[in-house]
Amino acid sequence: MDTDVLVVGAGPTGLMLANQLARRGVRVLIVDRHAGPSLETRALGVQARTLEIYAHLGIAERALELGKRAIGANMWTGGRRAVRVPLGDIGYDLSPYPFLLILGQDDNECLLRDALQRRGTAVEWRTELVGLAQEPDRVVAMLARPDGTTRSVAAAWVAGCDGARSAVRELSGIPFRGAPYEHVFFVADTEMTGPMVPDELNIYLWRNGFHLFFPMRGTDHWRLVGIVPPALRGRDDLTLEALIPPIGREAGAALTLRHCSWFSTYRIHHRRAERFRDRRCFLLGDAAHIHSPVGAQGMNTGLQDAYNLGWKLALVISGAGRPALLDTYELERIPVAERLLRTTDQAFSLVVSDRRLSGWIRTRIAPRLLALAMRIERLRRIAFLTISQTGIAYPASPLSETLPGLPKGAPRGGDRFPWIRLRLSEDGPAADLFGRLDDTRFTLLVIGQRAPPDGVPALGGLVSTLVVSDDPANARELARVGIAGPAFFLLRPDGHVGLAGTGVDAAALGRWVSEHL
Ligand SMILES: Cc1cc2nc3c(=O)[nH]c(=O)nc-3n(C[C@H](O)[C@H](O)[C@H](O)COP(=O)(O)OP(=O)(O)OC[C@H]3O[C@@H](n4cnc5c(N)ncnc54)[C@H](O)[C@@H]3O)c2cc1C
Repeated sequence: MDTDVLVVGAGPTGLMLANQLARRGVRVLIVDRHAGPSLETRALGVQARTLEIYAHLGIAERALELGKRAIGANMWTGGRRAVRVPLGDIGYDLSPYPFLLILGQDDNECLLRDALQRRGTAVEWRTELVGLAQEPDRVVAMLARPDGTTRSVAAAWVAGCDGARSAVRELSGIPFRGAPYEHVFFVADTEMTGPMVPDELNIYLWRNGFHLFFPMRGTDHWRLVGIVPPALRGRDDLTLEALIPPIGREAGAALTLRHCSWFSTYRIHHRRAERFRDRRCFLLGDAAHIHSPVGAQGMNTGLQDAYNLGWKLALVISGAGRPALLDTYELERIPVAERLLRTTDQAFSLVVSDRRLSGWIRTRIAPRLLALAMRIERLRRIAFLTISQTGIAYPASPLSETLPGLPKGAPRGGDRFPWIRLRLSEDGPAADLFGRLDDTRFTLLVIGQRAPPDGVPALGGLVSTLVVSDDPANARELARVGIAGPAFFLLRPDGHVGLAGTGVDAAALGRWVSEHL
């Protein structure tokens, strides 16, 4: 075997997967058909859940230094600022990163690539996957170089992180069902001045469309995104200069363009691969699902796919997990992609619809409703949990189990264990629990009782145990997330609850491991 995993595609998804595998000691070959890293910013929003994963990779601090926190969103209609929604610390008790970080895809890829390099793995550029042959115990991949030469590589597993036109998907014969939207989008990285509130999101809603400005690093640097106005649709030679007057009219003031480093137009599709796996080949990221950019979910969802598959593949390759564990990848991630396609489709239809009623809702009703909703604590929490991807759970997964007796409201099998601060030693300070979780292993979290003396023998060295001491501050923090008495949680390496219960049950822990790993 030439490698354990062949990762096809060095976009954000492939780089995240390669990192997750390399840090667990898996042999990885990562290839990309491009000559080098992409210089286009494309995705811009980094969600809290992604930053939590970046923290485990040691790149969260650098991402925060490079990016801008989205502190507020301003909605403009008819040249007037209709509402401002404060976003600063919107998820203040839900994540150590309670905000949306604005950081371009190119910077994200660079951080991930450097982290991978530090682990001794480099991307093999100018190398394109052109053929796949599945055998019972391996996949033989055909890789082509620009000079026309090819070589075959035998890998135990292949990860198709090769984007919307995925060769892995096509060579595996997996249908990519869905359709294109009729609208054409434009995107530009610019230096501009105008009425935009500096350092904040500025969303311009019109009767027949929208455009928005994302603040980028530096002064007056904006990423401008929107749909091409009706009068300019159907033109192949569209330039940003031609777009400025109509969108300036909608913005209600002159926009001055100083510089444009990237301009592109593109059609958006909403599609999902029928399956995310064909025997030894997996699909992740845009290869598995594409949708409208509403909500800045695309890149983040690919990163989460990789985080979900990474620990499972590593366990199976090391022999600590049975191959059936890999079935849970698509069982867990297809419902996430389905929901994403549905919700982004609904939101997108509202923001682009040409219908008179939709235009009226978009410009008159939606901004006010949104401002009102964000003043209600419960709705604000739901919005953050949804958009930040911290609310993603796998309740229907075969890996998710909740024993009887756990109070309603406590974390359950499949939930991402909530972010809390706990005192884990008697005289120590309260510490961020996430900072104490080792995401290359399982964690047995024991609350209000003694830990089993032998840990979880079936997991051997793959588990660490954290005992939460009795302490009024701990009790308050635990009560905040619905844990009111003795409880235990077996957390998977990705921080989701595998098994939850009240009194520590060594037999149930052993059974969970033997049934699922
Ligand atoms: C113009 C534009 C704007 C966007 N804006 C946003 C946004 O604001 N927010 C957001 O969340 N998302 C946005 N997206 C989507 C976001 O960019 C994607 O979701 C993200 O890039 C997915 O990452 P990925 O790694 O799965 O795929 P990609 O980034 O597409 O990476 C796939 C990689 O695979 C390589 N590859 C392909 N075929 C082969 C092959 N046969 N052999 C070897 N290598 C191969 C490619 O060269 C590429 O490097 C935008 C997309 C576009 C096009």
